[in-house]
Amino acid sequence: MKVLVLNAGSTSLKYDLYEMDTEASLARGRVERIGDGAIHVNGAGSVPVSAPDIGGALTAVLAHLSRAGGPLAHASLGAVGHRVVHGGERLVQPVRVDAAVEAVIEEHAVFAPLHNPSHLAGIRAARALFDVPQVAVFDTAFHAQMPEHAFLYGLPYELYAKHGIRRYGFHGPSHQYMAACAAEHLGVAAARMRLVTCHLGGGASVTAIDGGISVEPSMGMTPLEGLLMATRAGDLDPAIPLLLAREGQTAAQLDELLNRRSGLAGVSGIGPDFRDVQAAAERGDVRARLAVDLFVHRVRKYVGAYAAHLGGVDALVFTGGIGENSALVRERVCAPLGFMGVALDRERNATARAADEGGVVDVAERHARTRVLVVRTDEERMIAREVVRCLVGPTAAVRSVRSRPIPVGVSVRHVHLSRAACDALFGPGYELARRRDVTQPGQYVTRETVDLIGPRGEITGVAIINPLRKETQVELARTDALRLGVDPPLRESGKLAGTPGLTLRGPHGQVAIEHGVILAHRHVHMHPDDARSFGVGDRDVIKVRIEGDREMTMGDVIVRVHPEYALDLHVDTDEANAAGLGNDSVVAFDGLQVG
Ligand code: ADP
Repeated sequence: MKVLVLNAGSTSLKYDLYEMDTEASLARGRVERIGDGAIHVNGAGSVPVSAPDIGGALTAVLAHLSRAGGPLAHASLGAVGHRVVHGGERLVQPVRVDAAVEAVIEEHAVFAPLHNPSHLAGIRAARALFDVPQVAVFDTAFHAQMPEHAFLYGLPYELYAKHGIRRYGFHGPSHQYMAACAAEHLGVAAARMRLVTCHLGGGASVTAIDGGISVEPSMGMTPLEGLLMATRAGDLDPAIPLLLAREGQTAAQLDELLNRRSGLAGVSGIGPDFRDVQAAAERGDVRARLAVDLFVHRVRKYVGAYAAHLGGVDALVFTGGIGENSALVRERVCAPLGFMGVALDRERNATARAADEGGVVDVAERHARTRVLVVRTDEERMIAREVVRCLVGPTAAVRSVRSRPIPVGVSVRHVHLSRAACDALFGPGYELARRRDVTQPGQYVTRETVDLIGPRGEITGVAIINPLRKETQVELARTDALRLGVDPPLRESGKLAGTPGLTLRGPHGQVAIEHGVILAHRHVHMHPDDARSFGVGDRDVIKVRIEGDREMTMGDVIVRVHPEYALDLHVDTDEANAAGLGNDSVVAFDGLQVG
């Protein structure tokens, strides 16, 4: 099977074509300066092409690969693999792309604003052009099994539970590739090794890998955390951007500072390229020397920390432009690590050329306890392997990593209106205006409210949730129902037969509905990935555990699964008050309710 791997950036498109039966690389190249005098660069040189956008670039690549004598002239493509930087917690395996996957990639653009939108544009262009399976492979996925204590920040827990603010880690395919190379080269199963892998390029990260699983990457919620990089600051006291913000710097300026003006470039004042900085350091430039020292110091610090985390290291692996090519950096990182069994063969280290030596070179002394490997990384090959694994592997792809906390949404009494009711209450054809979104996609609270009139009393200013529905529905808490003097049953939304009615009052008039008043049955909305990770299905009934002053277990929670649902437990105000829950709360999944 031929697999085309695409890495779509904002102004460039990199591609690699593999024959996966042999893993032979058939072609690789890139289109640069998309939208502005684009050129197509490949082994044979560079030619100007018409590529006003990513679709144009892809068309040019396809024409090139299908030309007479080209690798796709007489053969067809089996699949396309897309590199995607951020898959968040939902996309933790390579997945076949469909509309739901595209939506999740789009959602995670908040964490990867420079990358995910470009990847998505590439995916959409490729889906329009190629009628073959398309698989997204995520930079974050390799790190998806790290334990909670490694991925949480020391922030209020709700920031994680509600907003996904946590460490994700990046460069996944590269670290995964290094682990695979180490296992193959050393002839030891990945499951039996503890590795520290260092990807040192323009972006740089270290990962602790235990038994083939990433247990901690140095990058965090975004690729900014951790090592000093070409232009990124890496670790710093978060009080620094706060101080600068108080002095008037905007978010955009701070972003620019931390992502593009820091790192090797910022410290040295020379530039982002390690070779330039190193050359200046050798000429005696003090700040260039400092930048190199800082770079090495950070790598060593992480290697040491991860060795402690793993309880020892079987092999230390280097890759990336710097890791693969700079004998000096490897030597300086390793120099004080004798205590953990690291001893470099200095000559072998100085002459190692992984690219010309089968991709992997062991530069440790023959008898050293810890192996030190230099690897020529090949993220694209790793992505191609992941594409094949996704397409031919077991279908239950999404791992259950752990039981996610379930965020709570407290539903205050509200009304869903039909067109006819809306006309009667606000005037014919009246369009209700959006005030704020609610957690479920596409639904929002309107600026307008209605009054409810029951046999015993009234409640004014009741929220309306749009869009309009076929039938008007009023969702109350038991306390509201008592105040109005109605006796609605516990029902699922939309199941209105046999329910009582009520009068609604708006600025234009009143409507008396014959039925439609319910106490909403508590339920939890889930994406299919969440359902899989909890091991539950649509319409199952589960229990949730609530911690805190009013600790309790709440049963009879109906599971509702849909690709457009975000994980959310819906309870009404009475239930929330009884359990001490608010919109910042989370609850724990406590198993299926049997019987
Ligand atoms: P990216 O992460 O941007 O894909 P690379 O992995 O190619 O980049 O790494 C680029 C970095 O590698 C640059 O800083 C470059 O200076 C550095 N590099 C390349 N060759 C050498 C070398 N021989 N010695 C030191 N650094 C090198």
